[in-house]
Amino acid sequence: MPEEQDCRQCGKCCEKWGWDQKGIPEDLVPWIEAGRTDILQHVGIMFSDRKHSTGKDLTLADLSRVVRIDYWVNVNGGMLTYCPFFFRAGDGKVYCRIHLAKPAVCIGFTPWNERIRDYALNCPACRDSIP
Ligand code: SF4
Ligand code: SF4
Repeated sequence: MPEEQDCRQCGKCCEKWGWDQKGIPEDLVPWIEAGRTDILQHVGIMFSDRKHSTGKDLTLADLSRVVRIDYWVNVNGGMLTYCPFFFRAGDGKVYCRIHLAKPAVCIGFTPWNERIRDYALNCPACRDSIP
């Protein structure tokens, strides 16, 4: 990646897009296997019988019944309008509290490649690449 595309850790992408996202079952497997209830408690789950829960008590055996995965919810299952793992440090930079375990939607998001004009223009890493 060219230097001018390097992330500045301003946090704008996570503030704007880090919630109301859909997950995939593959995200959940390592969290379940590692006992990451700190993450799973903020995952909204809908099952094939339309019942809802957080992912806190989810097991691998439950995955075949999962039809929707929502990021993120509070511990009571209510939708959040922010990411609970977003952390702005004293240096002003934003850090992801689950950086090494974050979901695919976060790993794959590269705002400098987005075609969403209003957003791309607000990413400092896009400053040399957006017309
Ligand atoms: S908006 Fe751009 S520079 Fe800011 S944290 Fe996201 S990717 Fe990095
Ligand atoms: S999990 Fe991490 S990368 Fe994803 S929205 Fe939250 S703070 Fe950003």
